[in-house]
Amino acid sequence: MELRILGCHSATPKPDEYPTSQALLVKNQWIVIDAGEGMQVQLRRYGIKFGRIKNIFISHLHGDHLYGLFGFLSTLRLLNRQTEMHLYAPAELEDLLNHVFRTTQVELSFPLFFRPVSGNGLKLILDNDKFSVHSFPLKHRIQTHGFLVSEKPAPRKLNMNAIKQYPEIGIWAYHNLKAGKDFVTEEGKIIPNEELTLPPPRPRKYAYCSDTAYYPDIVPYIKGADVLYHEATFSDEDKDLAEKTMHSTARQAAQIAKQAQVGKLIIGHFSSRYRDTNILLKEAREVFPQTELAYEGKQVIF
Ligand SMILES: [Zn+2]
Repeated sequence: MELRILGCHSATPKPDEYPTSQALLVKNQWIVIDAGEGMQVQLRRYGIKFGRIKNIFISHLHGDHLYGLFGFLSTLRLLNRQTEMHLYAPAELEDLLNHVFRTTQVELSFPLFFRPVSGNGLKLILDNDKFSVHSFPLKHRIQTHGFLVSEKPAPRKLNMNAIKQYPEIGIWAYHNLKAGKDFVTEEGKIIPNEELTLPPPRPRKYAYCSDTAYYPDIVPYIKGADVLYHEATFSDEDKDLAEKTMHSTARQAAQIAKQAQVGKLIIGHFSSRYRDTNILLKEAREVFPQTELAYEGKQVIF
């Protein structure tokens, strides 16, 4: 997978600080998670082709995660997009979108399928042969969901050097070998699959926790993710403010990462009160050393 941070700040955008939005390349398909203002400009900046995006996920309906969506969808119409788009978001967004498009006289040139996200527990919301996406509830001032993106296991790889030793194994057998089946010769002799193939790369998992108070209930859902993005709006000294606004401190984000035993934690959604976000990094690393700061344009390949 490849994660590209398009924006990782809260509330007010600045020339180089965009509100929350990310793009994730999973099995050769880009998905967009949250759509803060400026997301389409950022997609362009990092060379992510609009045509390769088929799924957009919106965690909640606060403006700093959403206002870029209207402009983006309207640009797709200007570009005369024909390919369908799937939008996963809280149910109220559908009416809002229709209202905006009606009022601003935008008629989309492509089918937009709206998929409402709601409910408790880990819910499967997208499933194809390459990857799946689950939603799970977070704890914020309005209904908010996090997302877990999981690759499906790839087929096994053919070990051509081994296969060449057996002239009776033709191309016709490769499909079954990749699926993990043993090869049976005409005489009924079994050649074990492990001898003829190599294991595929381990499937990766990405967990996204946008705005949320400290909420350990999510730990089982994101357990063992290779990369966790978790908001860290405040530092310890503003813990009361974090509680009041239902956000997390950097330390709390790190506690979640530690409990979930993730491979790496990326923190973001920084309040503009911190001129130097390294204090947030330091705080998180005290609990979970494998923490990195998000920044606009940051690329994480895993
Ligand atoms: Zn929010």
